[in-house]
Amino acid sequence: MGTDIDQDEKISLKGSRDVASQLFKLLGPSKKKLPVIFLVLILSTIATLSGPALIAYGIDHGIQRKNYRVLETTSIMFIVSIILAIVLSRIQIKLMASTGEKLLRDLRIKLFRHLSKLSLSFYDSQPTGKLVARMTSDFDAMEDLVQQGLVIFTTNALLFLVALIVLAVMSLPLFLISISTLPPLILLSIWFQKRSKFAYLAVRDRIGKTLTTLQEGISGVKVIQAFVREEALVKSFRKQNEAQLSANLKAIVISIKYFPVLEATGVISTALILGVGGVFVHHHVVAFGVVVAFILYLNSLYDPIQQMSQLFSQIQSTGAALSKVFDILNTKIDVPIRANAVSIGKSYDVELNNVSFSYKPSLPAALEKIQLLVPEGESIALVGPTGAGKSTLAKLIARFHDPSEGFISIGGIDLKDIQESSLRQALVVVPQEGFLFAGNVKDNVRLAKPDASDSEVISALEKIGVLDRFLALENGLETELFERGSQLSAGERQLISLARAALLDPKILILDEATSNLDPHLESKVEIAVESLSMGRTTIIIAHRLSTAMRQDKIAVIDNARLVELGSHDELIKKNGRYSLLFNSWQRNVA
Ligand code: ADP
Repeated sequence: MGTDIDQDEKISLKGSRDVASQLFKLLGPSKKKLPVIFLVLILSTIATLSGPALIAYGIDHGIQRKNYRVLETTSIMFIVSIILAIVLSRIQIKLMASTGEKLLRDLRIKLFRHLSKLSLSFYDSQPTGKLVARMTSDFDAMEDLVQQGLVIFTTNALLFLVALIVLAVMSLPLFLISISTLPPLILLSIWFQKRSKFAYLAVRDRIGKTLTTLQEGISGVKVIQAFVREEALVKSFRKQNEAQLSANLKAIVISIKYFPVLEATGVISTALILGVGGVFVHHHVVAFGVVVAFILYLNSLYDPIQQMSQLFSQIQSTGAALSKVFDILNTKIDVPIRANAVSIGKSYDVELNNVSFSYKPSLPAALEKIQLLVPEGESIALVGPTGAGKSTLAKLIARFHDPSEGFISIGGIDLKDIQESSLRQALVVVPQEGFLFAGNVKDNVRLAKPDASDSEVISALEKIGVLDRFLALENGLETELFERGSQLSAGERQLISLARAALLDPKILILDEATSNLDPHLESKVEIAVESLSMGRTTIIIAHRLSTAMRQDKIAVIDNARLVELGSHDELIKKNGRYSLLFNSWQRNVA
């Protein structure tokens, strides 16, 4: 398991630099806010650190010299500095969190757009479910960091550095004594950071396994009871639970070792400053107030080390998550772009003219001499066995690849001559499994068109007849979709994808029908949604169910890279060929 975690969570130095520079680019206009954020950060650090300095001044110049004016001023300034520190740190949290949230939102939209472009071809090599889960949990991790971690980390880093400078300026000998305990403490913190990272990853892994067992147990409870398997299930659950407990205990033992040593080091440093500082005061090397300030400042040295070592692994794994997201964003579609490309004209007929295609010259053709016309506004179902070439055909129409021979046209214009932006606006691909992100239902639909108003989102849901389904959720459209959208079923996730497409309102729709089994009620909802969505649009559906296929204007049967039959349901049934064979055997199975 150790090596798995290593590969998953580590990020190289070069990787970190790439991630940082890509993030910076993504900041866009928010870049202007960075100097302000930095200024507020500096000011709040100064305000925080001015407290002990003011106390020192008050003791040495007020109490010792019996100067009540100084005492009064320093006391008031002390209160002001504390208030300032609180106010500034609030402003700083707000600024950083809002910039971070905006950055995440932009990143999400960018990723969604990119995946919609890549979708079909990208999933050639990536298992969809895993990718979606991974990405959603990656975003959850980033959200945590943006909301709290980053502010705590930067504040503490700066606090530590500025505290070092202040101490060095106040008294060099006492400064040297204070930092004498730091090297072993930093080494210990590095050890803690490494060990606790593995321990917590193990705990996370264990929680996942326990939940899986629990979920399997609950969803399969009827089968389990029928086969009198309760005992075995309870046994397996108990085992998982014990493993989780022991992983948790390991994590706790590591903390038990670290924190007392950290505290002890703090106590030793305080004692050293008190003892040596006392002698120094006696010999007039330093003022009495300075020793008091040093003791107070020690907190600003020890706290940040502890906070940063706890956050370090979170930052590291977020960095790894970000670098994966950027990997996806950097995946390019391998079709050339022509300089003098044009927009799509007024017509949206889709035509394949003698199209052949193979993924590599060495591979057999995935499509051979396909001649096919889908007139504007009509729908066609692609039907055929797995590996026949249906997805390949859809990918070529969406221009994820160019044909090896022949050409595809929209409204008579060769796809190669159409501007990318014009094509992406006219054509939308609805993948089998939609991506959901943490956020409410509305935001998830809006992902396709970030500037859409609430009423646009609602009307998109209404258009495909699913508004009531989502309004019935606990908080209606405001329901937060946590846990990778797992409270939504596969069918509901597809409904969200369909609503996104409705929001974009494309002229051409390519739809990869979900293969997962849906409950009958939901299945009819999805079917109705697909039907309303395809109304009036040129629609190409990769149909996995004949019940879907039979409802389209035309059906194209693809087998072994060739178009073997084409016609309406009735025509093909009359023809008594491949489709009619398929259909009859399906009907017999259903009945
Ligand atoms: P279907 O959608 O009908 O199941 P596909 O269009 O996915 O079929 O596949 C058609 C053929 O092309 C299959 O033999 C498949 O193995 C091959 N193929 C699909 N994608 C790729 C790819 N990215 N690289 C190489 N071969 C591929």
